[in-house]
Amino acid sequence: MNNQLICSTCGTAYPAGSVPEICNICLDERQWVPREGQGWTKPAELHKKYSIKLNRLKHRLYELDINPLFAIGQRALLVLSEQGNILWDCIPLLDEMTIEFIRAKGGLRGIAFSHPHFYSNMNDWAGVFDCPIYIHKKDEQHIVATGKHLSLWTGDEMPLWDGMRLINIGGHFEGSSILHVPFLSEEGSILCGDSLFLSPSKKHFSAVYSSPNRIPLALSEMRRIKDRLDQIPFDTFYGYIKSQNLDKEVKRILELSMERYI
Ligand SMILES: [Zn+2]
Ligand SMILES: [Zn+2]
Repeated sequence: MNNQLICSTCGTAYPAGSVPEICNICLDERQWVPREGQGWTKPAELHKKYSIKLNRLKHRLYELDINPLFAIGQRALLVLSEQGNILWDCIPLLDEMTIEFIRAKGGLRGIAFSHPHFYSNMNDWAGVFDCPIYIHKKDEQHIVATGKHLSLWTGDEMPLWDGMRLINIGGHFEGSSILHVPFLSEEGSILCGDSLFLSPSKKHFSAVYSSPNRIPLALSEMRRIKDRLDQIPFDTFYGYIKSQNLDKEVKRILELSMERYI
C-alpha cells in the first residue's frame, strides 16, 4: 500500500504497478492536467507536509480535511449513527490520530461516495476500518484501484441504516450521488459532494458538468435534477468543501436558483 503514487492534482491513489503516465481522473474532460505536467507524490511525502484537520460541525457530524490544502481541497464528512458510522467521501491522507479518533467513536460501518473526484485512497480507509465502499455502478469505469471492499450499488437509491439513504442524482457524473441523513436536522440533511455548488454568496446553487472547466449541464439535465431534488425532504446542505454548508432557506434558494435555468 505504501508504494502507491498519488496524483498531486486530484489526489487519486494508484497502486504500484498500475500507474498510468497521466492520471485517468485528470485526463477526463471534467478535470485538468497542469501545464507543467503530471505530478505524483507518495503517502510518506504527504505525511511529512500535511495533516488532517478534524472539525466538529454539529452533534454527530464531523468534517475532515487536509491542512494545508492538497489536491482539489476535498473534505470527508463523518456521520455518527446508532447502528454504525458512515464516512461520506474520502481525503487522500489517513493518519494514526484520525484512525484512533474514528475507532473511539465506534469505527466505520461503511464509506460512501458522491463521485470519482473523491475516491483518493479509499481502499486504505476501507482496509483499516474493514468496511464496504459504496459507489454507484454507473461510475465503475472511473475506479482506478479495485479491492475486496468495493460494493457497487445500482438504481435510483439505496437504503442504508438508521433511515440514511444514497440517492443517485447524476449530472456531474452519471453515478453522482448524495447521502440523505434524516437525523442531523429537522427535515433532513443532504451531503452532496459537488453535485450541487453553493456560491460564495450562499444565495445560489448551481449544478454543472464541470466546475473548474466551466462546462454547464444540458437544460434537460437541470430539469431532471431539480425534479429529483424536489422529491427529497431536506433543510440542510453540505457541499464538497467547508465553505459549502447551508442550513437556512435551503429549499427556497435552490428553487430560486433553478428558476434561472428552467
Ligand atoms: Zn489526477
Ligand atoms: Zn467533481
